[in-house]
Amino acid sequence: MGRTLVTGIGLLVTGDAAPPVRDTTLVVEDGVITSVGGDCPAPDTVVDANGLTVIPGLVDGHVHPTVGEWTPAQNAVGWIHNYLHGGTTTMVSAGELHVPGLPFEDLTPDLVLGLARLSRATLARTRPSGVKVEAGTLLLVPGMTAAHFDQMAEAGIRQLKFIFYDWNRLDDGEAVEYMRWAAERGMTVKMHSGGVSRSGSSRVAGRDVVAAVRPDVVGHISGGPIPMPDEEIRGVIDDLPDAGFEVCSSMNYRATMVTVDHLREAGRLDRLTVGTDTPGGTGVIPRGMMRNICFLASVCGLAPELAVAAATGNTAARHGLPQGVLAPGRPADLVVLGPIKGSRGTDALECFALGDLPGISAVLVDGVPLVSGRSEQTPPPQASAAVTAY
Ligand SMILES: [Zn+2]
Repeated sequence: MGRTLVTGIGLLVTGDAAPPVRDTTLVVEDGVITSVGGDCPAPDTVVDANGLTVIPGLVDGHVHPTVGEWTPAQNAVGWIHNYLHGGTTTMVSAGELHVPGLPFEDLTPDLVLGLARLSRATLARTRPSGVKVEAGTLLLVPGMTAAHFDQMAEAGIRQLKFIFYDWNRLDDGEAVEYMRWAAERGMTVKMHSGGVSRSGSSRVAGRDVVAAVRPDVVGHISGGPIPMPDEEIRGVIDDLPDAGFEVCSSMNYRATMVTVDHLREAGRLDRLTVGTDTPGGTGVIPRGMMRNICFLASVCGLAPELAVAAATGNTAARHGLPQGVLAPGRPADLVVLGPIKGSRGTDALECFALGDLPGISAVLVDGVPLVSGRSEQTPPPQASAAVTAY
C-alpha cells in the first residue's frame, strides 16, 4: 500500500473528545496512520484535502446485512457501495436476521451458529465495496453451552445479540451466564431494547431486563422503532455505567433527545453510539449516518465534534474495533467533506451544527482512496480533494 500523505486539511476532527485541529496533515504507512501534522518525503500517494474537513470514516454500529450486498429487507442490492459514498467505512451487523424463512420462534444453537459462521466466512471476509463489515453476529438463543462460545471464538465471531431471546426465562440465570462467557472471550453483546421490531418476534426489553442482563451495548435505546418509557431510559443509563447507549435512524426522535440530555447530565457522552438499523423497516439510507450526526448536533445540542465522535470513535470502541479515531497507530479510514454550495457553514462541523448535510469529496479505507472527486450520494462540496499517485 505504501505511503500516503493527506495534506491541505482545513479542519481535522479526530473522532474522540479532543478539540478539532486546524491546518494539518496525516501521514499514512501501509494503511495505518503514523503521524498527525508530520511530513512525508516521497509519498506514493498525496491526497490534497484543499482546505476541506477530514473526519474518521463513519462507523455504522447497527446494520442488517444478509448475504454479500444483498438483503431482502427493502430488496436491497448494492447498498453497501452506496453507504460508502455516504461516508460509512465500517459497519457492525446487529444480526443477519433477514434470511428468508428464518424460524424466529424456533432458533436452535446449531442454526444460529451456522448462520453466523456463514456470514463471517463470506460477508465479513470479502469486504463488499471495500467497507469493513463486522458481520457474523450471533443471535443468542436458549440452550447454548460454553462449548458453543468456544466454537464462536474459533470462527472469529465477536458480536452477539439478544433479540429473539425469551425473557420469561430471565430468572434461570442463563442470559447472565452468556454475558460472562462472552466477556471471557472478548466478545461484545448487544441487546435489542424497547418494544417489538419489524420481525414481530423480538422480545420487549425494558429497564428490568436490561439491568438484569447488563449488555455491553443497549441497542437503539431511543427506539427501533419503539423505545422504553423516558424514565426507564434514564434508569438504564444510570444502571449501566460502562455500557454503550446506541441511537439509530430507526429512532423515536423525542426519546433521542431524552437520551442525549441524560448522558450529558451524567457526563457520559462518550458512551453514546450511533447506527442506522438498516436495511430494514426504516429503509436503506446511504446518508443515514451523516443525518444522525446532523440531528445530534443541530437538534439535540451536542457539540458537532462530539456528534462525530459518537458516530465514529465511540461506536468502534464499544464494539471492540480499532478504527474510528484519527491518531497514530489507527487505521487510515477517513472522509474528506465540506459545505455544499448554498450552506451557511464554512466547514463540515459548522454544517453539522446547522443541520446542513455536508458534501463528500473523498473516502479512504486503510489509506486507499475508494471515493475521490465526489460522492455519488451527496451534492459536491464547494472545494474538491485531489488524489495524485506517484
Ligand atoms: Zn436492528
